[in-house]
Amino acid sequence: MAFEILDSSGVVPAVMQAVEGTLAAVQPVAAAGLSILLAGLVIAGQALAGWLVADFGSGVIHWAQDRYGSPRWPLVGGIVRDTIRHHRKPMGFLAKPVLARSARMIALSLVVLGVLLLAGAPLAFALPLSAGIFLSNEIHAAAHAKAGSLPGLVRGLQRTGLIQSPLHHAAHHRHLKNVNFCTLTDWLNPALERARFWRRLEALMRYAAGIRTRPDPVVRRQQRRRWKMA
Ligand SMILES: [Zn+2]
Ligand SMILES: [Zn+2]
Repeated sequence: MAFEILDSSGVVPAVMQAVEGTLAAVQPVAAAGLSILLAGLVIAGQALAGWLVADFGSGVIHWAQDRYGSPRWPLVGGIVRDTIRHHRKPMGFLAKPVLARSARMIALSLVVLGVLLLAGAPLAFALPLSAGIFLSNEIHAAAHAKAGSLPGLVRGLQRTGLIQSPLHHAAHHRHLKNVNFCTLTDWLNPALERARFWRRLEALMRYAAGIRTRPDPVVRRQQRRRWKMA
């Protein structure tokens, strides 16, 4: 009864009209907000994917150097020698100037960026990927540096795992030095180790191509020392 009185007085139609008008005005704004949110999520997803691909790439290169590389190889023998030296003296490369330490990765990152852009890859994917390659050796160096020597921002990023933390990287330098090959984040290594990715890949190389891993001279020396002490 009360509703009929309101309806006949014109209040309800006026309220309905006001609600419809408000909805019509709000709808485009909500749709625009939703599309901005979705675009932001897509860009964030592409950026994360680019960063993780760079992390995986760092793992593949590091694994190949550590497990198969020979210092006698032409062209890349010097890089393999550097990685063996790094296992022997992990802090040694901190003394090098940034350019001497990262020149190769900077050059590689620029080549990768050029190829990705020519192939039409989204900028939100290509930029973090090449930035990850560009910074990979410096992030690796930060994982070896004393905490007090690093800016607060770097220490904060290390705590999130977005760039690799010292504790996470330390696992690579223990014992057989055959785990945690990725050096950019704390996020990929646990999944790869849980899946025994590198061990399975090495088994595939052995059975499919007859290629065996190279014994790490630093690991052998450390094992011999341990046996003598036992
Ligand atoms: Zn290594
Ligand atoms: Zn290291």
